[in-house]
Formats: sequence, C-alpha cells, structure tokens
Amino acid sequence: NRSITLDSRPFGAPNTDNFLIKNQKPPSPLQGQVLLRSVYLSLDPYMRGRMNDTKSYAEPIALGETMVGATVCRIEISLNDNFQEGDWVLAFSGWQDYALSDGKDLLKIPPNLANPSFALGVLGMPGLTAYMGLLDIGQPKTGETVVVAAATGAVGSLVGQIAKLKGCTVIGIAGSEEKCAYAVDQLGFDHCLNHKSDNLAQQLEQVCTKGIDVYFENVGGRVFDVVMPLLNPCARIPLCGLISQYNATELPEGPDRMSLLMGSILIKRIKMQGFIVFDDYSHRYNEFSQAMTLWLSESKIKYREHLIEGLDNTVDAFIGLLEGKNFGKLVVRLGPD
Ligand code: NDP
Repeated sequence: NRSITLDSRPFGAPNTDNFLIKNQKPPSPLQGQVLLRSVYLSLDPYMRGRMNDTKSYAEPIALGETMVGATVCRIEISLNDNFQEGDWVLAFSGWQDYALSDGKDLLKIPPNLANPSFALGVLGMPGLTAYMGLLDIGQPKTGETVVVAAATGAVGSLVGQIAKLKGCTVIGIAGSEEKCAYAVDQLGFDHCLNHKSDNLAQQLEQVCTKGIDVYFENVGGRVFDVVMPLLNPCARIPLCGLISQYNATELPEGPDRMSLLMGSILIKRIKMQGFIVFDDYSHRYNEFSQAMTLWLSESKIKYREHLIEGLDNTVDAFIGLLEGKNFGKLVVRLGPD
C-alpha cells in the first residue's frame, strides 16, 4: 500500500520536500469492514489549506498523516453485508492505494455510471459548489452579467455553463489563451479574458457593457481588484475560494483597499456571502444531482477532466494546481478500473 503523507508544513508554495511516499502492506479488514482499492483520487485547492497548522473550518492534517482527499474506489474485500466485492464507492480515503472503512463514510456509485470519476467533479463536490453557490447565493436572472474566474476549472466551468442555461451573459477569466478559447468555443461563454494580460481592467470594462451583476469569486487578488469597480448596484458575490492567496505569506503590496471594498459594498448594497459546500449544502445534493444528470444527458453541460496517471505524479500535479497548470478537473488515476 503506497501512501503520501505530509512530512513538513509549507511556507508559501508547497514543494516536493513537504511530502513523503511510504510503502506498507495493505491493511486487512476486520468483520464489518471493507478494503478499498482507490482507482481515482481528486486533487482540490482546499488541500493546500489543510497543510497549514491554522484554525479553519476543518482540522489541519497532522505531520506524518496521509494527505486527505476524496476517492472513487472499488471494494476489494468485503466483510460488511452492505457492500459486495467490485462495488464502486465514493470514499474519503486520501492519497493512498488501499484503505479500510466500516462503510459509514462510503457512498455507493451506481454501477451503470459511464464515468465513475465524475463523482469527484461534475456530479460531486465541485459540481454542488458551482450549482449552489451560483443559484442559491448568486441568484442570477435572465439578461444579467455573470463573471467567473478559474473559468475552465472544476467549479468555474460549471458556474459559467449554468449561468448560460439561466440566460445570462457570461464572462470568464482564465490563465491562458488556450483556456480562454475553450471557454468561448466549447463551453459557450460570451467572452473569456486572460488574467495574465497587462490590461485586464480595460478589457473587462469593454466586455461588461452593462456592469457585473454576479461575480462568482474563486480566486481573489488581482482579479477581484479589476472586478470591484464594475459591480452593479445590488450585485451578488458568492465567495467560494481565494486560490490566488493560498500560497501567500504576506499581505499584497500597495495601499490598503479594505475601506474601498467596504465603501463599495455599502453604497452599492452588494451582497457577498462565503460558503463551505459540505457544511451548507450537503442536504441539497439530490436536487443538484438530478438537475446536473439531466443536463449532462442532454449535452447541455460539458465537462473536462485533467487526468494524471499514478501516485508518483500526484505531488507535482497538486503543486501545479496552485499554479494554474491543470486544464479541467484534476483527477489522478491510481490504478486500473
Ligand atoms: P480549478 O479546477 O479551477 O483549479 C484551480 C485554478 O485556479 C487553476 O487552474 C488556475 O486557473 C486558477 N489559479 C491558480 N492560481 C491562481 C492565481 N494565483 N490567480 C488566479 N487564478 C489562479 O479548482 P476548483 O474548481 O476545484 O476550485 C476553484 C475555487 O473554488 C478554489 O478557490 C477552491 O478553493 C474553491 N472551492 C470552494 C469550495 C467551497 O465549499 N467554498 C468547494 C470547492 C472549491 P487559471 O489558469 O485559469 O488561472
């Protein structure tokens, strides 16, 4: 059983020295337990936060412990009546090949699902995040303008497509020309701008001819700076993530913009609301799943996975996620189906 543990806490961007690969015998299940064999591992930005020893909505990963993460697994051995060998399940068994479970934390994945790994993305946590953040907090209305950054990623690509289904004008912001072309040509966004270009503020102003009604916040930092002046009165900001800050070790340079932000929120009556998808929206999973399954079957939603092969490439892929190297939902294939 190979596993990747947290060996030291990163200061700034994580590097390979923060992780350790261990190799041990696979554990043996006791009565009532199952042995899980991980086939797909989800890599997600929140894992960076769990590497810090700071108070957050979830406990930090302890040094020496296996890195956490959602997985799609096969039941390899079952000593639990609720599961049969060969069943597909959604688990939270982390960065390792094998794990034990008593079954209580497992969700069965329908055997006829064409792509079991979709349970980690479009039909799983990132999908629920996009759906609930946009529809429940963002409340987009037909004809409004929705802006979303990390626009081709797991969450952002779905936010933009759902907003299009609701009749909005959608503007994506992404980290390369290739990603932007994909957002417009394949995902149907109206525009997509490269946040690495020098004149992002002017470009955004040019395409947001009617201002911004919903800004789905995935990244923070420089992107938020250019969005803020264009927000319309009564704009909504689902505050989902701030990935541009996850590796930051100090406050950004320049003047303190807190009073500017608070002034804008006040004068424009902006609603900005953070959310943690598991805590706030787990109970609405079925509603989301029905809608998303239908949209997928009707080809109204497109979904792109960035598949990495093997545990050996997991650390580099995760480091790359925080640098924009992924193009689509980042998933590692740990073993054969
Ligand atoms: P993505 O698949 O979008 O991958 C991350 C992307 O973020 C990168 O590809 C890159 O895209 C962008 N990025 C990375 N670094 C920077 C940077 N410095 N500045 C701007 N963009 C950057 O990840 P997810 O869709 O899984 O997550 C998107 C956001 O949603 C994250 O902030 C995450 O923490 C948050 N989230 C929050 C949840 C909640 O419950 N609140 C649940 C799930 C996710 P590009 O190259 O286009 O810039």
